[in-house]
Amino acid sequence: MRIEDKLYLIGYKVDEDGSHLEVNKKDVCKKCKNKACTFVCPVDVYKYDEKEEKLSINYDACVECGTCKIVCEYIEWRYPRGGFGVAYKFG
Ligand code: SF4
Ligand code: SF4
Repeated sequence: MRIEDKLYLIGYKVDEDGSHLEVNKKDVCKKCKNKACTFVCPVDVYKYDEKEEKLSINYDACVECGTCKIVCEYIEWRYPRGGFGVAYKFG
């Protein structure tokens, strides 16, 4: 089974009140050379628009693996509020 097919099995309850992922320092992404967040996330939550010089965070697709918080010290990472976020189904 491909990873993309497995991702279709995941359920989400999106917290419309806001993101559980934030960058905690202003303008740091503009200066960031490697933009590591944009290639380590398995579900492409982070996208950097070079023209606009802006990082977008599509938090509703996050599978809560924690990789981005390891590669970037400026990402403020929390679990979503209770009852929200990803729901894994097994079997
Ligand atoms: S979130 Fe971190 S890794 Fe991603 S562009 Fe900003 S500073 Fe770079
Ligand atoms: S926790 Fe994992 S899935 Fe969520 S944004 Fe970070 S790298 Fe992507």
